[in-house]
Amino acid sequence: MPTAFFGHGSPLNTIATNRYSRAWRDYAATLPVPRAILVVSAHWYVPGTRISAAHQPRTIHDFNANFPPRLFDFRYPARGDRTLVERVVDLARPIRVERDETTWGIDHGAYSILAHAFTAAAIPVVALSIDRSKPAAYHYELATRLAPLRDEGVFIFGSGNVVHNLELAERTADAEPYDWAQRFDDSVRELLAARDHESLVNYHRLGPDARLSVPTPEHYLPLLYTIALQRGSERVSTIVDGFDFRAGSMLSISIAA
Ligand code: ZN
Repeated sequence: MPTAFFGHGSPLNTIATNRYSRAWRDYAATLPVPRAILVVSAHWYVPGTRISAAHQPRTIHDFNANFPPRLFDFRYPARGDRTLVERVVDLARPIRVERDETTWGIDHGAYSILAHAFTAAAIPVVALSIDRSKPAAYHYELATRLAPLRDEGVFIFGSGNVVHNLELAERTADAEPYDWAQRFDDSVRELLAARDHESLVNYHRLGPDARLSVPTPEHYLPLLYTIALQRGSERVSTIVDGFDFRAGSMLSISIAA
């Protein structure tokens, strides 16, 4: 099973039809039908590694009240998957993964993609949190342990943004990205092509461009959960790219043989 990282951008992408949503839909149509989906979203960023264990995970509307009511009405009614939950708990050992049945579920980082890629919500979805107390290398290491799932029909995807600076975002249609944002995005793409995972884990060494592009790590870290699954002969390809609001990279990539 291929694995992927999606740049999700605004929550509005959940209910939009645009070149990103079409690219996500078209990409998913090329995949073998997954048995289950494991998603690592930037928006479940908590102390501890947790996994959604509810039979029917809740749709989480994790954005402010300025978004339209239609977005608050959106539901992604996929089932959970207790078998996959237990498998992840086992694979992660000795890292402790806490089963979460009540606090979280499927957030907009997950369903802004799922709504287009797996419209019918017929495939079970399990979410894995990002432990905010841990460094990037921890996330990469944890993710490598999940690689066997790819042979078990599980589609694993990370959802974040390679460049994500809300403070400097400009709500100007069609504005060009900031120079630093474009440079950082280009650097990440070069490192992906070169399979330089060490540099991608140590992204802060990329200097001022990295500090502006990744002011907080939660939107970048889902990329590490994807690249850690890359196998020897596998290649990275671009699903879609571009920028929203000058400071949000929409780069989405797939890793496959
Ligand atoms: Zn986000």
